[in-house]
Amino acid sequence: MNANPSGWRPSTPEAVTLDGEGAPTSTGNRALMLEEGLIFEIGSLNNCGVDLPTPSAETSTRLGGMSRSTPPALPGLSEPEMVRHYTRLSRQNYAIDLGLFPLGSCTMKHNPRLNEKVARMAGFADLHPLQPMNSIQGALGVIDELAHWLVTLTGMHSVAMSPKAGAHGELCGVLCIRAALEARGDPREVMLVPSSAHGTNPATAAFAGYKVEAIPAGDDGRIDFAALKARLGPDVAGLMITNPNTCGLFERDMIAICEAVHAAGGYVYCDGANFNAIVGRVRPGDLGIDAMHINLHKTFSTPHGGGGPGSGPVVLSEALAPYAPLPYVTKAADGSFELVEEGDEGAGESFGRMAAFHGQMGMFTRALAYILSHGADGLAQVSGDAVLNANYVLRALEDVMEAPFAHAGPCMHEALFSDEGFAKGFSTLDVAKALIDEGFHPMTVYFPLVVHGAMLIEPTECESKAALDEFIGALRGIVERARAGDEALHLAPLYAPRARLDETAAARKPKLVWSD
Ligand SMILES: *Cc1c(COP(=O)(O)O)cnc(C)c1O
Repeated sequence: MNANPSGWRPSTPEAVTLDGEGAPTSTGNRALMLEEGLIFEIGSLNNCGVDLPTPSAETSTRLGGMSRSTPPALPGLSEPEMVRHYTRLSRQNYAIDLGLFPLGSCTMKHNPRLNEKVARMAGFADLHPLQPMNSIQGALGVIDELAHWLVTLTGMHSVAMSPKAGAHGELCGVLCIRAALEARGDPREVMLVPSSAHGTNPATAAFAGYKVEAIPAGDDGRIDFAALKARLGPDVAGLMITNPNTCGLFERDMIAICEAVHAAGGYVYCDGANFNAIVGRVRPGDLGIDAMHINLHKTFSTPHGGGGPGSGPVVLSEALAPYAPLPYVTKAADGSFELVEEGDEGAGESFGRMAAFHGQMGMFTRALAYILSHGADGLAQVSGDAVLNANYVLRALEDVMEAPFAHAGPCMHEALFSDEGFAKGFSTLDVAKALIDEGFHPMTVYFPLVVHGAMLIEPTECESKAALDEFIGALRGIVERARAGDEALHLAPLYAPRARLDETAAARKPKLVWSD
């Protein structure tokens, strides 16, 4: 196999020598870290990892003259070549199984192996969603039991299980709000969103047909309650608010906020992505919210990153429950489980479907395994330890990093820092890239937008004090270089398979088709 095909270069051989640490190699490989081309650049079209039978004459006549005259331009790799290709690529990646993953708002926690074992049991993993109901009673039971836990932990009325991720859950909740308003003959136009919100919130509201208006944050990083009250009125469908919010702070006026929105005839959507910080301690239903998604892949430890899979069940208040999407699971008097579908009695005033089937079964089994293995007391310890770890990071670094809301007391979810105090020309990006050289995934950067050069760090409950101290030490060293104006920082990462990429061009002009 050709590890370094022509026309394709490892990006930074010169960078490797910058500090005198070793010369470029002729292969581009560095010790056991192997360079790897694209799958189209390696192998040969004559190779195939499987033996396919020669099609019979009958098969080709059934194509009605549409059979291909040229072979498809598929990559040709033998099985061992293919295994090596993907293994090499995977070694260039970072994972929670390798080390601390400080991304704020993402809750990158350990994925217990017990969850994986349960999710792979043939009785769950090998089902087809169209199987007869009497043959999938165990799976429906898992959905029902998980739903029960989610409703209990949040103190809400019911839950829609089918949304496939947080953003999909937001859409589900906002469509319930829209359906409820239309049912009472009062369609409204505006959705209010705090300026610190995750980008998915305004995107969801706009996608559901609402005009989005931002409510500013106060000096303490929480929503400006006076500005919110002043804006409420008969055109406002609702408020989408995150709690704990994206500045890592608990919105302590939540009950009064919900009362004010309700008094003005609107509904409150809570973005529950940060539920990890309050699970087992605060029930959002007690605060008066109407809908909230729960990212099972964050709070309840199912693996995520790199685009999925996710799962975003939405807990609903009694007012919104009738509009929830179909299908949903019910338990009959004889203890058996059934699916309520369109046209069934009990389908109520549902706004429709969010997904073809019942939701992400693999995520449901993992999340339920996690919940049952922790129990109610264990879940309360999860949130306690997660918040303690975030505060440890905040207090350990606030002497070298500007923490804009640290004066407001402990943080409730993640530690938030700004780039204030860096030497001129040094930015949050330099710090994030240098963390890669130190062996860590970067933290969340430039979010939330209300803080200049934001760095958002959420260690989660999984990290030991020793792991936190290592991370803090690495970050402290980098920040001291940024404050001192160490020019070499602009070159980071020096040791990654690729140096700084043009991320804007990659996003704006992606090359999605391979051509020679
Ligand atoms: C992760 C996140 C979302 C979106 O959730 P997905 O599952 O990625 O769609 C929304 N809001 C906040 C605050 C988040 O952290």
